[in-house]
Amino acid sequence: MRSLKTPSPSEIMATLVLEAPLTKIGAAARKFLSKPKQLLIDGKWINACSGKTFHVFDPATGDTIASVAEGEATDIDLAVKAARKAFSGPWSKLTPSERGKIIWKIGDLILANLDELAELESLDNGKPLAIARVADVPLAADLFHYMAGWATKLEGHTIPISVPYAPGAKFFAYTKRDPLGVVGQIIPWNFPLLMAAWKIGPALTTGNTIVLKPAEQTPLTALRLGEIALEAGLPPGVLNIVTGYGETAGGALAAHDDVDKIAFTGSTEVGKIIVRAAAGNLKKVTLELGGKSPAIVFKDVHDKQAAIQGAANAIFFNHGQCCAAGSRLYVEKAIFDEVVAGVAERANAIKLGAGVDSGTEMGPLVSEEQFHRVSDFIAEGLKAGATALAGGKPVGEKGYFVQPTVFTNTRPDMKIVREEIFGPVVVAEPFEDLEQVMKFANGTDFGLASSIWTSDLSKAHRAAEIMRAGTVWINCHNIFDAAMPFGGYKQSGWGREMGHEALELYTETKAVCIAL
Ligand code: NAP
Ligand code: MG
Repeated sequence: MRSLKTPSPSEIMATLVLEAPLTKIGAAARKFLSKPKQLLIDGKWINACSGKTFHVFDPATGDTIASVAEGEATDIDLAVKAARKAFSGPWSKLTPSERGKIIWKIGDLILANLDELAELESLDNGKPLAIARVADVPLAADLFHYMAGWATKLEGHTIPISVPYAPGAKFFAYTKRDPLGVVGQIIPWNFPLLMAAWKIGPALTTGNTIVLKPAEQTPLTALRLGEIALEAGLPPGVLNIVTGYGETAGGALAAHDDVDKIAFTGSTEVGKIIVRAAAGNLKKVTLELGGKSPAIVFKDVHDKQAAIQGAANAIFFNHGQCCAAGSRLYVEKAIFDEVVAGVAERANAIKLGAGVDSGTEMGPLVSEEQFHRVSDFIAEGLKAGATALAGGKPVGEKGYFVQPTVFTNTRPDMKIVREEIFGPVVVAEPFEDLEQVMKFANGTDFGLASSIWTSDLSKAHRAAEIMRAGTVWINCHNIFDAAMPFGGYKQSGWGREMGHEALELYTETKAVCIAL
């Protein structure tokens, strides 16, 4: 399979941490932090109507790093009005090419401000700065560059129709794709800038206007992106950003009668709340929800070390705070002990630290709430009789650090096996053959992603065929690209992000039929 000279994607991911140059927060990020963090409504930065603000914390220390405007229902209403005005106003007057150029420029400006954005992301979310530099920020820029090209390529079809009840009559029929209108977008804290890009890019290229609500834990890079969008020439009101809490700002956006679509990424639990809130005006809904994704290692895998490294990265990348995290590891019986010991060894070797500190391989979890949530899962796993081959304990006294944890001796009914933990915790189980492991893999309410590690091409394709998940990675995991659709089967969501699939979910198809 792979030659020794070509590093696998997981090997690349593993070396990124060590190779990327590291510095602490620079002047540009410090300057941004020192400014007031207001709401972006109709092209202007303004305080929340109530004047209220909330604090944003550094998860490595628990210290406050910023104070941010707390938008609520009245602010959401102002933002929706601005978006509505821009939708039929300046935004609709631009040609697709002009629209595409602005979107392309947003991508360029993200790259021009890469260091600042990476530092803000690392400080706010806790992720290693090197990862933010080589993954989060370039991927966000690439998403805008990819989507910019689509603005001029949103084509319909001409359709030869027959109309059996109108013999002899002639018609010309064609379809066109219209933007939906005002879209509300609610994003999570695990990849704050990238999730904003995944949402904003396809909405803009299809001609919609936006009200974005970032996660309360990590609003900083979305606000900086708002500045960048204005600098790129986005007309006022096309992108509005309302920071605030989920239940208030998010709830008001999901329920708003003049919002045409709500796009949400986050927990399955809140996804169900969004669906209910959207029922009032039957706005369109897309959901990118949780997962409990399997990583499956067959004994015929060509490079066992690569599979071990890959399985470790599948769960430990971004501290396990990935919707696609490989949180269930299935290993064929003959190599179970060896592979799981290798993953545990890797877990024990991971260097924990603040995201912005040099050499950090894994940062803290994003918040005190997540720290307790993940710690409770671990405690429950131990109590239920699972064995922690690695980890199993919180770390230090300050910040929200959790040890990378590998559980064996689990049972399918255990909470740690069934539920999304969203932390650096993997459950490992042996399997006998393809048939059995596919039952294990699909035996979940989720269906977001999966990976299969084997050198048997037929087996890989057979497994991909049977897998009930939106993404099947073969001999890799956590590979994302702006051109590749991503989303879930079952309770992992509705619709797809990225690729041209995303565009369809931001447009209506209009059929036009002319009697000739
Ligand atoms: P969450 O509550 O689902 O939050 C995601 C987004 O939804 C945030 O912007 C949040 O705002 C907003 N929100 C919360 N309640 C809302 C409501 N009633 N109406 C409208 N919007 C609402 O996720 P979380 O609490 O941050 O994390 C909990 C768990 O969710 C995690 O442990 C993980 O299992 C899962 N999760 C999954 C993903 C994913 O990518 N699939 C991402 C994050 C979390 P606030 O930030 O203000 O609450
Ligand atoms: Mg929440």
